[in-house]
Amino acid sequence: MKKIGLLGGMSWESTVPYYQTVNRVVGERLGGLHSAELLLHSVDFHEFERLQQDGLWQEAGERLAQAALGLESLGAELLVLCSNTMHRVAPQIEAALSIPLLHIADATATRVSATGIRRVGLLGTRFTMEESFYRDRLTAGHSLEVVVPNESDREVVHRTIYEELCRGRILETSRAEFRRVVAALLEAGCQGVVLGCTEIGLLLRPSDAPVPLFDTAEIHAEAAALLALESPPT
Ligand code: GLU
Repeated sequence: MKKIGLLGGMSWESTVPYYQTVNRVVGERLGGLHSAELLLHSVDFHEFERLQQDGLWQEAGERLAQAALGLESLGAELLVLCSNTMHRVAPQIEAALSIPLLHIADATATRVSATGIRRVGLLGTRFTMEESFYRDRLTAGHSLEVVVPNESDREVVHRTIYEELCRGRILETSRAEFRRVVAALLEAGCQGVVLGCTEIGLLLRPSDAPVPLFDTAEIHAEAAALLALESPPT
């Protein structure tokens, strides 16, 4: 089994499900008392949220590359960056590493495509929904079409992520708002919705929509566990 390096989440609220999922999948695959071999570098999210807001992506990339190198030097054999948003600096991190980075959008696009769904909605931070780094990666090599909410709904989703989900606040009122945003995406012809922020799975459950909700934290963590076991997905 390969040793996984987790760099996350960036809020620790989403690092928890990553840790659980990776261990669960390894346990299910190998049975008995098996669990994942992993190293975790959890950051102070306050600092990274500042860098995001100030647009200091180069600096954020340098700091994450340093952290990833630290994991590599301790024996990590593959890197999992537990945030969709911070994949904006994935090329910078990859350039610093000798070990592979398992890209969250690749894992997600593979999972969506396997269902036969072609038109998906995308929820995430405004960086993830509005910039090209994530959407282009989702569609590259996959015949997917990505639809994002309208501007005011994007603002609702972005604000809820930072003011609530990253602080561990899971509110019924926000769940209702997200359900409304998902319904609008379905009206726009989406056959499924990518929860493109690793904290959204804490709020929305599969039963919150009549179509598949693709939880990127779960998909990414499962893909990492399978890669570590070098076992194909079933
Ligand atoms: N975890 C979130 C994401 O997947 C946003 C917070 C952050 O890590 O920057 O985009």
